[in-house]
Amino acid sequence: MSEERRQELADSLRKVRERIDRACHEAGRSPEEVELLAVTKTFPATDVALLSDLGLTEFAENRHQEARGKVAEFAELRPQAAVRWHMVGQLQRNKARAVARWADVVESVDSDRLVETLDRAVGNALEAGERQRPMEVLLQVSLDEAEHRGGCRPDDVPRLADLIAQKVNVQLRGVMAVAPLGGDPDVAFDTLFRISERLRRDHPDAVDVSAGMSGDLESAIMHGSTRVRVGTALLGSRPLTSP
Ligand SMILES: *Cc1c(COP(=O)(O)O)cnc(C)c1O
Repeated sequence: MSEERRQELADSLRKVRERIDRACHEAGRSPEEVELLAVTKTFPATDVALLSDLGLTEFAENRHQEARGKVAEFAELRPQAAVRWHMVGQLQRNKARAVARWADVVESVDSDRLVETLDRAVGNALEAGERQRPMEVLLQVSLDEAEHRGGCRPDDVPRLADLIAQKVNVQLRGVMAVAPLGGDPDVAFDTLFRISERLRRDHPDAVDVSAGMSGDLESAIMHGSTRVRVGTALLGSRPLTSP
């Protein structure tokens, strides 16, 4: 864990926080309303440790295979650190049990079958003492019909939310989306915020809006994001082959 890398991460973290603060200021919001989730996919556990030393507590991964080892390694590097892990990638149902062992939050729930499987998997993990708390979940909404990067249709949100509300091991906390490639992020995030408002009428605890990444976090904050998911702007560019 080099001093050089520590300095690099400290600098990029300061810049990202400045962007968040400025965007909140322009939106007339308090920076405390917007959580910073560090997306550490493709980067090593040592980077997570350094970011944790710098005060970050929320980390995200998008692939179970990669996350499992990294979460364990981080726990060895920083046994005292209280952090939470978010799964933000598409989740295959046969991985639900495994993800229930390390994730505190799953942000990519988008089907009835996944709700059912995850609820059961988390129940089993609780019983086996592999986790202590229910799973917080967000409904991932697809804001572009033409793309298949995961997410349910906006029309499916009320039904899926009602289904989650009937379960004991998964708790609905809100919605998540990725702005469509090449589209106008303002339009996408405005749509997401309306979906969130509508959802909160029936599910008042589902207050989280996970929206905004390195390239569009200002737009997302303007449109009510409560959590930005930042990878590149914090950690640097990923190899092109990564999703
Ligand atoms: C990789 C990823 C991010 C972070 O993207 P950056 O552009 O690197 O900030 C955010 N959300 C999801 C779902 C991702 O897979």
